[in-house]
Amino acid sequence: MKKKINKQLMLISSIAVVITVLLMATVFYHILQAQVIEDLRVYAYMLAPSGIPYGTETDQNRLNKDGMRITVIGADGSVLYESDADVTAMDNHLERPEVQEAIQNGEGQTVRRSSTMGMNTFYYTVLLDDGSVLRVARESHSIWSILYQSLPVFLVTLILLLIVCLVLSRYLTKSLVSPIEQMAADMDHIEGANVYEELVPFAETIKAQHEAILSNANMRQEFTANVSHELKTPLAAISGYSELIESGMASGQDAVRFASGIHQSANRLLTLINDTIRLSELDVMKQVEPFEEINLYELARDSVEMLQIRADEHGVILSMEGSPCTVRGDKQMLEELIYNLCDNAICYNNIGGSVSVNVGIEAGQTILRVRDTGIGIPKESQERIFERFYRVDKSRSKSTGGTGLGLAIVKHIVAVHDAHISLVSEVGRGTEITITFSNQNQSCAAL
Ligand code: ADP
Repeated sequence: MKKKINKQLMLISSIAVVITVLLMATVFYHILQAQVIEDLRVYAYMLAPSGIPYGTETDQNRLNKDGMRITVIGADGSVLYESDADVTAMDNHLERPEVQEAIQNGEGQTVRRSSTMGMNTFYYTVLLDDGSVLRVARESHSIWSILYQSLPVFLVTLILLLIVCLVLSRYLTKSLVSPIEQMAADMDHIEGANVYEELVPFAETIKAQHEAILSNANMRQEFTANVSHELKTPLAAISGYSELIESGMASGQDAVRFASGIHQSANRLLTLINDTIRLSELDVMKQVEPFEEINLYELARDSVEMLQIRADEHGVILSMEGSPCTVRGDKQMLEELIYNLCDNAICYNNIGGSVSVNVGIEAGQTILRVRDTGIGIPKESQERIFERFYRVDKSRSKSTGGTGLGLAIVKHIVAVHDAHISLVSEVGRGTEITITFSNQNQSCAAL
């Protein structure tokens, strides 16, 4: 990056210097040309009335000193007078453009490359009264010689400019890059880095991402520790029971009891592992595509039917109400969601209590509500029950086969469906959990 900025700055300044030099030389050359022609014109008109070679000697000396060359060309093109050379050796000048111009327009001018390297000869002609043409000429620098002469100045300027660019680009890149380097060196204190205005959104995004990565890493670490801890208890029970059977200490009814203990612990392990795998799957899944049209009412009704036996076991009355309604979603996930909510409502209930499932449209949005008359959730735990492995009453959860992962799975499924979850609960009175599906994700109508 630094090298790139350096190179580009130098390139830009070099181009700028070259263009400036070329422009300046062209402008300068044009001014010079105009000036020379003007000088020649003044001289020509000064000499014209007297006619050359009738000009005074002083005049001629002065003209020679100024580098002027005077020629008088007769009407037939023969050279009548030439201040610089022998007239007899000169060819006919009638076809010279400046002579032709003077004959036609009374005056003329032209510029020709000189025999001297890097010089141009400027000519100015005036038609005299006797039909002859007076020509005043002078040599001056060509544009190339002007450029050539300005080459040292040009090179020195270029070198100076490149040095300035080098220093400037160092400073520039440093001030551009150093806040980024500072941020990279210490991700935990990004706000401490001397960040310039344009970098603020970038710094904020990086900071948010860094924090998200950290909290994710923490969560995973905590999750792994929790999973290991949860697995330990049933494994220890299995190990203990099997050891007793192996040593022959348990026989008859005891052996059956221990085998049943092993069976239960193994089941618990299986549920735990299944829930953990499910959560990991949901973790990596951001959006399930394509969603299909699901009849939420039918899905809830089937789940309720399936859970009737479980409700009976717990002495809980399970009912379903509402109106047919569809949402776009993933059938298996929505089934899981309804199952987990209903299962909790049954398990954390009292004998003779009730659970009612409601599906329908409220305020134009599809809702799924599970209401129970169970034990309720204390205020301080209401936020936390969606956390992994959080249980209000650990022993009660374990006795019903809970893993503490059910609501974490629910939270994930709700997020995948772009839905919203709300909870109202009161200890001793019951709990009501409502899932509201967003408008885009529903196609509801009273079927
Ligand atoms: P678990 O497998 O323990 O049921 P969940 O994640 O499903 O785990 O629930 C977390 C905790 O939230 C439960 O242990 C329980 O204490 C509480 N909880 C969940 N649903 C209800 C409910 N309907 N009534 C009372 N408490 C509930």
